[in-house]
Amino acid sequence: MDIIDFHTHDTGATSALISVDPRQFDPQPGKWYSLGYHPWHEVDKLTDDDFALLQRCASHDQVLAIGETGMDSLRGASRDVQAQVFTRHLTLAAILDKPVVVHCVRTAQDILTSRHKAGLDTVAMAIHGFRGNVHVARTLLAAGCYLSFGHQFNPAALEATPLDRLLIETDDSATSINDVASIIASTLHLSVAQVKTIATHNATTFLSRSH
Ligand SMILES: [Zn+2]
Repeated sequence: MDIIDFHTHDTGATSALISVDPRQFDPQPGKWYSLGYHPWHEVDKLTDDDFALLQRCASHDQVLAIGETGMDSLRGASRDVQAQVFTRHLTLAAILDKPVVVHCVRTAQDILTSRHKAGLDTVAMAIHGFRGNVHVARTLLAAGCYLSFGHQFNPAALEATPLDRLLIETDDSATSINDVASIIASTLHLSVAQVKTIATHNATTFLSRSH
């Protein structure tokens, strides 16, 4: 495993964890995936069959995580539906013993509450595309989460993130992973090579903790 880009939707990406909807899962040799139903994509219409498909596909060896899944207070279905769908992903993650890639837009407390209410606090979570402030970062870090940063972030939140919880990603932006590493390196006063080494090491630790 040599994952530096922790989260992308580009199915052609290399050295990346590619986030895919299970209905579009088409594993290619040498690639790694996370599978889930994105909270923006009509999650109120998901059926038991869709979750059975997720479970079946996510059992594949090249699927290292569940997600992206999560909650968004600005888009998508109602808060209740989002919480239910997110909890179903967490339940599957526990069954399959895989960590979760979480989409969290102004819902950090809901994310942690949902996990706690479901009795699934041991399910590992990385919050992808983290742009929250330092207080939200500390809350999520205290709950054991990893934080994945892209090209836009709150510098104080990045500085508050321990180097062993730091991940980097491109998501759906046009900024390359090299450029993301370089932006993060300059904020943290590290070299680009150091950031890449740290991010790759952390991705491996996070994704292989249960294998
Ligand atoms: Zn994404």
